[in-house]
Amino acid sequence: MKDDFGREISYLRVSVTQRCNLNCVYCGKTDCEKKETELSPDVFRILAGAFAACGIKKIRVTGGEPLVRGDICEIIRLMRGLPGIETVSLTTNGVYLKQYAAALKDAGLDSVNISLDSTDEGVYRHLTGADALRRVLEGIDAARNAGLSPVKLNAVLMRGVNDDGAEALIDLARKQPIDVRFIELMPFSEQGENAALRITGEEILRRFPFLKPSDADGGTAEYYTGEGFAGRVGLISPVTRKFCDGCNRIRLLSDGRVKPCLGYDTTYDLMPYLGDEARLPEEIKKIIRKKPAGHSFDTRSGGRGLNRTGG
Ligand code: SAM
Repeated sequence: MKDDFGREISYLRVSVTQRCNLNCVYCGKTDCEKKETELSPDVFRILAGAFAACGIKKIRVTGGEPLVRGDICEIIRLMRGLPGIETVSLTTNGVYLKQYAAALKDAGLDSVNISLDSTDEGVYRHLTGADALRRVLEGIDAARNAGLSPVKLNAVLMRGVNDDGAEALIDLARKQPIDVRFIELMPFSEQGENAALRITGEEILRRFPFLKPSDADGGTAEYYTGEGFAGRVGLISPVTRKFCDGCNRIRLLSDGRVKPCLGYDTTYDLMPYLGDEARLPEEIKKIIRKKPAGHSFDTRSGGRGLNRTGG
């Protein structure tokens, strides 16, 4: 399924909840404590199935924090069973991953991205509001032991806050076969709008000249590696190296609305078509066609709270 700019849309990101058990400083404070209308696993199956009928091949489950939902394995199992879906991955903060990793793998989960912005307990607590670093590190081990592959780590660096911990994060990729990816801070919060805090991909390469280009994997990250590294370092630079021209994504929110672009507040509600499921693919195609050409994070805010829309 192509949008009006000729981009093939094949990747669906599904936010299964707005709730989160962390309160990351850059994510934008939201009402994420409140349990809002969250769709049931079966409704997610119907909606994701309609996207699959439109050509979606890959699903990423995100949030909020997807592992706060007790029925997360059921959601994954239903999505993995949809005709046309080739991979289902998960983005999580990893706090509950140790207890869920094996069950998620059994449910059909292919791979996992774990958010980790610091390996220092105090900095982690400052960034997330929780004393959970040890649990996240155990979650990373559990994901690898369960056979989820690849296991990738996502880190957001902020100048003077956690950027002095970048080398310790890179060390994780040196020692283990995991990809550590640095995502540029985006304007979804007061911190995000402060460009002075942003550490760009280019700056990381200047700071760590031992990083040399590695193979791309067709995603948004540019990969680098170093002598003796077991894994890779990825740079995701949505602000300074915008990748909208090749964007293949569409987002389904936890209440059944579709968000075609992270840079705009515009959403389209699919819930009115739930009783008329044969019509869903047709409505989805109309929405995909309207996907904007791209965001303008360099000049315009992305609004508030990535945990609301699904990071
Ligand atoms: N709770 C899950 C997690 O922590 O991975 C999924 C949702 S979270 C919103 C997804 C990702 O968005 C995290 O890796 C987080 O670091 C990233 N994120 C949130 N706000 C951001 C911002 N302003 N700029 C860049 N990345 C951000």
